[in-house]
Amino acid sequence: MRHELRMRVIKWSRFIILIVVLEIVMGMHASTAKAYVDPDMPGNLLRGRTIILDPGHGGKDPGAKGLIAQEDQINLAVALDLRQWLKAGGAHVKMTWERPGQIPSSKKYRVRQRVNWINQTGGTVLIDIHCNSAGPQWRGPQTFYWQGKDSYYLAHDIQKELQYFTHTKRSVARIDQYVLRYVHMPAANVELGFISNPQEEKLLLSSQYQRELSWYIFLGIEQWLLKGRLPVHVLQSPPPGHLLIPN
Ligand SMILES: [Zn+2]
Repeated sequence: MRHELRMRVIKWSRFIILIVVLEIVMGMHASTAKAYVDPDMPGNLLRGRTIILDPGHGGKDPGAKGLIAQEDQINLAVALDLRQWLKAGGAHVKMTWERPGQIPSSKKYRVRQRVNWINQTGGTVLIDIHCNSAGPQWRGPQTFYWQGKDSYYLAHDIQKELQYFTHTKRSVARIDQYVLRYVHMPAANVELGFISNPQEEKLLLSSQYQRELSWYIFLGIEQWLLKGRLPVHVLQSPPPGHLLIPN
């Protein structure tokens, strides 16, 4: 009886030792993993930041019209794709609207309300998404900003990626637009392409192209963050000097 009890005690203490060892190993593993989510690391630039996406128009205001498409549906589709990339990168994403019926078709697009809402979100950056419209001969995406170094570089870095992707010669430009003018954060308006060009309209309607466009916009935002082009009050962490290997 006493022997049996001793054997059980040994058996249990072995089990407890095993648990303790496992916990130590798992703990070490967890702290290694923690080092990789250091917010100073370039790969984690989006973590904890709030990105605001505003697919232009919606509801009673469809925006520009092509032969088949209307602008708001393309703006929304690309914004939804962009949200996925941003979320995968660790960002919080807020959208002014995210479902086709969310702005009732009887309601007018109230840009002033939209701007008020955007300014209350505490977002790091605003990306407005639209399609361009002019003659059928024009094509290519173009990114606009209103003023300030932060918005200029944001638009510039996004346009660089879109140039690489589409080979457009269009470059970043200034525009006086209500949303860009009155939001209190760095902001860019990406005009995805010309809905008035029947060939580009077809492209803009393709989910593959929408996904690719959103990927390059995402890369542009990443570039902007990576280069530390955010205002100092938002990007306060110093360059990650501790990652350098001393000589
Ligand atoms: Zn528009």
